[in-house]
Amino acid sequence: MKTIKHSASYALQLTTPIFPINCYIVKEDNYCTLIDCSNRGTAKSIIKAIEKTQLPLRYIILTHAHSDHTGDIQKISLHFPEAEICIGKREYEDSQNGVHNIRMPIKPTTLLSEGDRIGNLLVQETPGHTNGSITLIDQRVDTAYVGDLLQSQGGLSISGDIRWLFPFPAMATVDKHRAIQSVEQLIEKNSPKQIFCGHGPAITYIKENFDKIIIRAKKI
Ligand SMILES: [Zn+2]
Repeated sequence: MKTIKHSASYALQLTTPIFPINCYIVKEDNYCTLIDCSNRGTAKSIIKAIEKTQLPLRYIILTHAHSDHTGDIQKISLHFPEAEICIGKREYEDSQNGVHNIRMPIKPTTLLSEGDRIGNLLVQETPGHTNGSITLIDQRVDTAYVGDLLQSQGGLSISGDIRWLFPFPAMATVDKHRAIQSVEQLIEKNSPKQIFCGHGPAITYIKENFDKIIIRAKKI
């Protein structure tokens, strides 16, 4: 896995090669938080990157429960037994109710809802890609971790709007129109400067670009 340092955002981006999947380590004053767990087979690299920060891992937060985000969460959790396991309340309920493709491989310790806080990360419910997808906002630096609500791989787009160079997140999306609403609300409530997504490089928020992708997503 490749590590990209975003020091100004307190973030480390861990990316798999070829089929790019991101997860993130967010540094707080005296601990760190892991957002998403990438794909299966990446536990070793993730654990190594966490240990390299020399900060204890206190939270593992999942933006949603697709397998390329839950990855090896059991192994990571075994290695860091002190870390709380957090996921959106609705997403966990869907995993228990057999909703297609939503699987939580481990029992969470904390269920999150709109407005909850984990350290400096504020929870916003952003349904669309899945019913229970959440976004984490780091208000220290106006950064948003959106999971698959947006993608930059294959071209910037909103979940559900297919980019043929990387169509997979769109194909796994349950409701594009809710995703568009979630993006609009995310921008309105938080005016994020930088956005970290599940697939592709970090996104700098530029109003014109977002106006364009919203129009494009609404059209099709
Ligand atoms: Zn997904």
